[in-house]
Amino acid sequence: MTLIDGRALAASLRARAAAIAADLGEAGIEPRLAAVVPTGDEATAWYVRSIARAAEQVGIQFEEIAPAGTDPSRVTDALAQLSGRPDVHGIICLTPLPEGLDLPGAGQHILPEKDVDGASPVSLGRLATGLTAFAPATAQAVIELLRNGGTPLDGAEVVVVGRSNVVGKPLALLLLSEHATVTVCHSHTRDLAAVTRRADVLVAAAGQPRLIGRKHVKPGAVVIDVGTNPTDDGGLVGDVDTESVEAVAAVTPVPGGVGPVTTAVLLGNVVAAARGF
Ligand code: NAD
Repeated sequence: MTLIDGRALAASLRARAAAIAADLGEAGIEPRLAAVVPTGDEATAWYVRSIARAAEQVGIQFEEIAPAGTDPSRVTDALAQLSGRPDVHGIICLTPLPEGLDLPGAGQHILPEKDVDGASPVSLGRLATGLTAFAPATAQAVIELLRNGGTPLDGAEVVVVGRSNVVGKPLALLLLSEHATVTVCHSHTRDLAAVTRRADVLVAAAGQPRLIGRKHVKPGAVVIDVGTNPTDDGGLVGDVDTESVEAVAAVTPVPGGVGPVTTAVLLGNVVAAARGF
């Protein structure tokens, strides 16, 4: 069983984004990413810091906006203002959000051409209909990992566990456009293992520590673990019990798999947005 190295892929994606950022700089364009951070959640703060560091390495200006108070309109106003600013090329909205606001509701205030993490319902609709759109970076990261590993998707049986707007649903759409046969499982799926065992490629995005074990995988399958579940000792585990799926061909580790690729994809989307949607 091979452990798929997300950090190495992320480094090469960042290098590609840095080259584009340098070209843009020569043309007088400074790519800029703005992050609206509604709450002071510790995990979110860590994620924002890691994006800020990676953006600096790539040559992307990074700006954090923390709207005061808990009124949802402060968040949506901030997003609308950023959408109107010509110097801002990419906008992301972090969660958790204040009560009364969900991500699609917030995403409605992000212009699709600046929606570098695919939060807008318009982006999802465009993706579904084959129009140019940014998909959520995590869903794109899964495709990048599979492509980079040379995993054939055309005609492959791919099972995605999870149907959220940020991972499962957009990923299913991306996989369909790669001509995979896609099955999406969720918390109401009756016999999860019977379905996941069919998969040539299995993507676990349920947010359930070690949900996927030996009985869920077919020997030789490629497994992408999107799950990031905090442990009591401050660590992270995925949705896959890596030790018990030794019969698979390859699996992404947590940490060091999908996470770093997601950040690199996000920065790639910012330079793409700055170059012209
Ligand atoms: P979510 O809670 O919005 O959705 C979870 C999905 O999993 C739901 O569709 C639910 O029906 C399904 N599910 C839950 N329990 C299940 C079970 N026992 N069997 C089958 N399906 C089940 O979560 P999300 O935002 O999509 O995130 C999923 C996981 O991915 C989380 O661990 C999250 O932290 C992680 N994540 C990682 C990244 C990254 O960059 N690495 C980015 C986004 C999310």
